Amino acid sequence: MTESEYFPFAFFEGKIVPTELARINVMNNALQYGNAIFGGIRGYLSADKKHIHIFRMSDHYLRFLKSLRILNKLIRYDLRKLFEITVELAKKNQPKTDCYFRPFTYATNFEISPDLSKLDFDFALYMIPMGEYLPVSKGLRLIVSNWVRINDNMIPSRAKISGGYVNSSLAKGDAVKLGFDDALMLTSDGHIAEGSGSNFFIVRDGRLITSAQYNDVLEGITRRTIIELAKELKIAVEERPVDRTEVYIADEAFFAGTGVQVAWIAEVDGRMIGNGKIGPITARLQKLFFDIVRGKEKKYSGWLTKI
Ligand code: PMP
Repeated sequence: MTESEYFPFAFFEGKIVPTELARINVMNNALQYGNAIFGGIRGYLSADKKHIHIFRMSDHYLRFLKSLRILNKLIRYDLRKLFEITVELAKKNQPKTDCYFRPFTYATNFEISPDLSKLDFDFALYMIPMGEYLPVSKGLRLIVSNWVRINDNMIPSRAKISGGYVNSSLAKGDAVKLGFDDALMLTSDGHIAEGSGSNFFIVRDGRLITSAQYNDVLEGITRRTIIELAKELKIAVEERPVDRTEVYIADEAFFAGTGVQVAWIAEVDGRMIGNGKIGPITARLQKLFFDIVRGKEKKYSGWLTKI
């Protein structure tokens, strides 16, 4: 990423600074051992292009703080303060396009040891412009990865722990190298977990199905959003283990996540999903999702922080 590809200001070591000065020493423990937690929050340009809507900021920061609790660490900022910093930084950077906030809490020490009990954590935040992370209108081609998803007793998947993302990197990197858009990852017992950076849904006989929380998936905010919206639309929702071969015979499949947004899947392991086109339930949820984030659905304006 070059300088023109990120916003000029970041929050680092307790204050807003030029982003290029938000630097970490090579001896830093988080860099070397992955002892850090990150978040990812989207800011959407409103339909009238006058505002940025930060989507479900409180839910994102709640998960962020809970991830930190799993590491048994504290930072000097509470939820309210994290909101304030985010809003202040957004106002300072004045985004005119869709953007992405990357909150980060990391071990600041130069400790040559993985001993978490000795580490102190600080908070940083930066922003980048962001359009599509994966195409949302083309139909994704996936493979089931032979890299197994990390489980709750290895590196907890429900939390966004930086070190755990090597697992995603292996799956995603190999899939892309083979010419696919992304990978689907399985749990140690062979059920579907999720994508390398998103939660996963299928539709069978009009029912929306997603892996259960105990299937080693991130506690995704978009996953929760999709489940809430489906329930409102009176679509039956099942959260349960999903077999790999159920995916092959699903009528529809899609990814949901902050980066991917709602992106439909055309093919898994060389098998066409449904008729290879976006399915009706996916299309309905995708449209509602984009209308909400652009502020066109007043009912859900509580999910948006207006800048
Ligand atoms: N699973 C993984 C592994 C992810 O990295 C992400 C992206 N944060 C998600 C799911 C989706 O989570 P969210 O909707 O909160 O962005």
